[in-house]
Amino acid sequence: MKRTPEGNRAVGRRSFLASVVGGCAIAPLVFPSLLLGASAAGALTSEERDRMTPSQVLDWLRKGNERFRAGKMTPRDYLAQKRTSAAGQYPAAVILGCLDSRVPAEIIFDAGIGDTFTARVAGNVVNDDMLGSMEFACAVSGAKLVLVLGHSACGAVKGAIDDVVLGNLTGLLARIKPAIAATSFDGERSSKNAKYVDAVARTNVVLGIAEIRRRSPILEELEKKGSIQITGAMYNLANGVVELVG
Ligand SMILES: [Zn+2]
Repeated sequence: MKRTPEGNRAVGRRSFLASVVGGCAIAPLVFPSLLLGASAAGALTSEERDRMTPSQVLDWLRKGNERFRAGKMTPRDYLAQKRTSAAGQYPAAVILGCLDSRVPAEIIFDAGIGDTFTARVAGNVVNDDMLGSMEFACAVSGAKLVLVLGHSACGAVKGAIDDVVLGNLTGLLARIKPAIAATSFDGERSSKNAKYVDAVARTNVVLGIAEIRRRSPILEELEKKGSIQITGAMYNLANGVVELVG
């Protein structure tokens, strides 16, 4: 993406918004890329976020992951994004990801300051506080997408498979164990088997999505109304690919 002078970018954004207000049909796959260009200088505005549908937000993240993998990330002025977001935030998505240092959501989706809520906990497990955070993100702040993001070679999943017992970690890993029981797998069910570990991590994402719907009537209702979408994905540490799940 080419850098454009600040003035040109501002004019471009005004023209784009004017075309939306004017009722022009915008192809779903075009809008997010335009939006991302506009947000490169500043954080998302409420108008930019609110005009996106949940599926457009998902596509926006998918395209961000493509830029990340291609090494063509959006040039960002973080100080400008800090300035424009200081008075208010309008993130388009809330991402429940793993604590793993190799899965920083903003980077692998090429998002900037103010673009996404990111909740991280080992094994991307759903708990009351995460549910409360996601309800804030969607019902109060207006985010359009809830994305449960698991990943390959997850240490928390391995720990759950190995029945690790360690302080407060024991209780956290217990939240992953239903995914072990629910995973059908032909082959060695061991933490040393990478394919098995990834299969359990994928099941953990699927169960996480179901748990969000079951334990949060607020989010379930927003999804039924079409205001939000609740879905999941698996991130591959080796090749950087985010694959949708559920
Ligand atoms: Zn992990």
